[in-house]
Order: sequence, then structure tokens, then C-alpha cells
Amino acid sequence: MKTQIFTLLTVVLLLVSCNNQIKDKSSVIANKNSHNYKGPIIDMHIHAFTEGNPLFGMTHPPTLRGETFEGVTSAAEQKEKTLEKFRKHKIVKAMVSNGKLWFDDVPETMLIGGADKGIDALRNQHQEGKLQVIAEMAPFYAGILADDPSILPYFELAQELDIPVGFHIFPGGPNYGFHMMPEMLGGMRTYNANPAQLENVLVKYPNLRLYIMHGGWPYVEDLKALMYAHPNVYIGIAVVNWILPQEEFNAYLKSLINAGFGDRIMFGSDQMVWPQTIDIAVETVNSVNFLTPEQKEDIFYNNAAKFLGLTKDEIEKHKNQ
Ligand SMILES: [Zn+2]
Repeated sequence: MKTQIFTLLTVVLLLVSCNNQIKDKSSVIANKNSHNYKGPIIDMHIHAFTEGNPLFGMTHPPTLRGETFEGVTSAAEQKEKTLEKFRKHKIVKAMVSNGKLWFDDVPETMLIGGADKGIDALRNQHQEGKLQVIAEMAPFYAGILADDPSILPYFELAQELDIPVGFHIFPGGPNYGFHMMPEMLGGMRTYNANPAQLENVLVKYPNLRLYIMHGGWPYVEDLKALMYAHPNVYIGIAVVNWILPQEEFNAYLKSLINAGFGDRIMFGSDQMVWPQTIDIAVETVNSVNFLTPEQKEDIFYNNAAKFLGLTKDEIEKHKNQ
């Protein structure tokens, strides 16, 4: 009897594990069959650095997914490897902070971002045709809020020039960055990271075209409140698409899409010195099991095209590439 029970148990266990294997296999097959977007991509968040940037050669500490990345070691390598990813993923437009450094290499792709100088200097840069987006604004790292009097002139300029503005909040720096790099990230506070800090700005400058650059995670409820109140707020999903575990990214994205904001979510990577983050960012969005092909197309291209005001001809050209 004991033997029979044992055998029965073994059979049951085997069946259960077989069944699990079948289930696992079918979910793998389902994922493989899930639509991989192949069209043009707009990346709303990239950085071009000059030689000597302290990030060169840095190994990215383990993300919440547990991955680490070896940093490129020079400005030339950063440019070469990033532009290689542009070709690989059909990135036809990219908002590149300090993008004037790469402008001659890919003039048609480049949207030059800048926010690292005074208002007059930025206005001049715009007049010279070398500034299309005021970004990346990150006073958060210094513990300064968006509606601080020292920051408001940047929003005012963006509204005056009618160009988009990109504002970085959370997540910023690697997880536990405060403890790892206090000299670089010591000024940030999570209590200064909520997207709600943008509300006074949006009320003061109602015609702003503003996007939140790192997805505003994990303040999803506050993000929804802000997007509900202000139709001109978009979000970029850079960084959250390569640091968050896939399930957490899915939950975050689903919450925004369920609320009806799927037409204001834009792809970005925030590639700094780790070019493979672009691959992971693209793959993460492609791996979201509930997105339809149309929703993927919106996130990878259409929403940004609308936000940036690309012409019909430009859009057609990109889609036929
Ligand atoms: Zn950035």
C-alpha cells in the first residue's frame, strides 16, 4: 500500500511537473508569438558627453533586475556605439542632451536638448537652430523643486519658444545611489521626487509641452492625477524600462493605460554610457504581454511624433523607411 501511495504520489508529482513544463513552454511560445514592433522608433532621452565625463568606464551597479553594465570609455566610443543602436533599432529621431556634439553625424535624427546654461544662452542656442528641446532639467539632484523661482524661467522660455521641455524626477541615479555616490547624488530626496511638484508650473504656464523623463515611477497615482488634470503632460519611459523587473514595469504601464493615458506615453532609453540599455529598453516594451501592436506603435513612435509636432511628410517618410 505504501508503495502504491508512493507510486501514485510520484505519478501525480510527475504529472504536475509535466503540466507545469507544458504551461511554461506555452507561455514561452506565447511570448515569442507576441508581436515584436519593427517600425521606426523615437527615443526621447539620450545623452551625448564630451571627453572626460566621470561616467566613462563606470560599471552600472546592479539594477532592480540585478543586471550590471560596463561603461564605454570615451566620447568617441559612446557616439559610435549609440549610433550603431540607432541603426539597429531604426531610431529615426532622438532627443539628445548636448546633441550638438553628434549633430553632423546624424542631422536628421537629432533633436538637440539643453538645459545646462542660463536663459539667454539657451535662447541664443535656439536662434542658431541648435536647441529643439529644453532638457534634461534635473534640479531634483540638488534638492530643488520644479516650482522654485530659480527654475521657473526655463519653463517660461519653453513656453515662449513653443518647444518641449523634459523634466527629470524619479527614479534618478541607480537604486541606493544616494549611499553609493553621495558626492554626486547626495542632494536628492524622495520627498522631492513626486510629479505633483509640476502642478504649479503647469498652472502658471498652461501652454507648456512637458514630459516627465523617467516615467514618474513609483508615483503612479499622482501621475494619473496630474495627467487627468493637464492634457499637455506626457511621460517618457526611459530608465524604468531597463531597471525595473518586467512585472513591475508591466503593472506601472498597465495602470496608466487602463486609466486612458496610452496616447501620452513615449519611448526613451536614457542611454548614457551603457549602449545595451537601448536594447533592453526596446525589448522590455516589446515583452509587455498585454500591449496590442497598435499600442506598441503609439509608445515607440506615434505619441512622440504628436508631442513633437512632426509633419505628415516626416511621419510618412519614417514609416516608409
Ligand atoms: Zn538623462
